Amino acid sequence: MSILHLVRPDLLNVRPYSSARMEAIAGNVWLNANESPWLPLDQQVGVNRYPEPQPKILSERLAELYGVDKERILVGRGSDEPIDLLTRAFCRAGIDNILISPPTFGMYAVAARVQGAFVREVPLLAEQGFACDFSGILRQVSAETRLVYVCTPNNPTGNVADNEKLRELASALRNRALLIVDEAYAEFSDAPSMILDIDGFDNLVVLRTLSKAHGLAGARIGVAIAGLEIIGLLRRIMAPYPLPSLCVTAAMTALTASSLAVTQKQIQWLRQERAQLFDALTQLPYVLNVFPSEANFLTVRCVDAERVYATLSRLGIVVRSLRNHAGLEDALRISIGTPQENLTLLAALRELGQSRVLEM
Ligand SMILES: *Cc1c(COP(=O)(O)O)cnc(C)c1O
Repeated sequence: MSILHLVRPDLLNVRPYSSARMEAIAGNVWLNANESPWLPLDQQVGVNRYPEPQPKILSERLAELYGVDKERILVGRGSDEPIDLLTRAFCRAGIDNILISPPTFGMYAVAARVQGAFVREVPLLAEQGFACDFSGILRQVSAETRLVYVCTPNNPTGNVADNEKLRELASALRNRALLIVDEAYAEFSDAPSMILDIDGFDNLVVLRTLSKAHGLAGARIGVAIAGLEIIGLLRRIMAPYPLPSLCVTAAMTALTASSLAVTQKQIQWLRQERAQLFDALTQLPYVLNVFPSEANFLTVRCVDAERVYATLSRLGIVVRSLRNHAGLEDALRISIGTPQENLTLLAALRELGQSRVLEM
């Protein structure tokens, strides 16, 4: 059975927008897209022209980075875009549902609600270090479940899911639903990527992004890696020119061999900082628990998280309050910064431990 039987039936006959850029790829005199023939003053990149829908050089570079064929890659505006496209492609409004394991990344549920799809929740097992409840997920899958999300390392708990369990889940969901494994923080973890399993499952989608380890959050480059049927479908319903030329140039610069070598060093530094910060945070008197993390952040339970948050804010140090995540109301999520930033944070937190600031 083809994975396409899970696609919204009304979508299968929609003809994609055929952009000028798609219809013609070679030429010297470009008069087909109503573009300006002039480059704006002081622009280096050819921004007067529409970009390629899926820039060949970037797709090839990303395919090399992730070790897959470039036809298995969809490059989008952040991984937010593939999340949105998958939801729109597979979920019938008012009928279908997605399955998430909170506490987790908020965009899965937002994309579903925008599409009019239902959200089923199978909470992570708090008493087991927020492990994924794989048997709970299978119990909650219904005939209308289209997308099952697992975020690993998970935002905001920082732990990873077991790959063997993920393969078993993908296998159990075959012909029933897609398994979407969000690996936004994979570079900070030793866990092997589920990309290695893409060939084995036509219902498996792996999400990666250049927003975190590669330092390109502002360029909005995210990647979905999946079988040809899913990638082909998403390309057909995607916006015609999703990737701005300037962002493609920024990504190409960040993906040269020398940039990647620097990125690798930064990841090592960040992991060292993470270990040191973990120890230091654990020793603070009002810190109840620091979650072991395989991502670039640490989640910390505190005696009075709101007051710690407010005090840090007043000092200009901005962390993330998790008060809206059920079960993590007393927690803060702290991104690992530069060594200097981490020292600034620790100094503020230590002072907070000693002084009456907490009673203010
Ligand atoms: C940050 C993050 C992303 C990345 O989103 P982009 O749109 O690629 O910037 C994806 N998933 C999770 C869980 C994240 O935390």
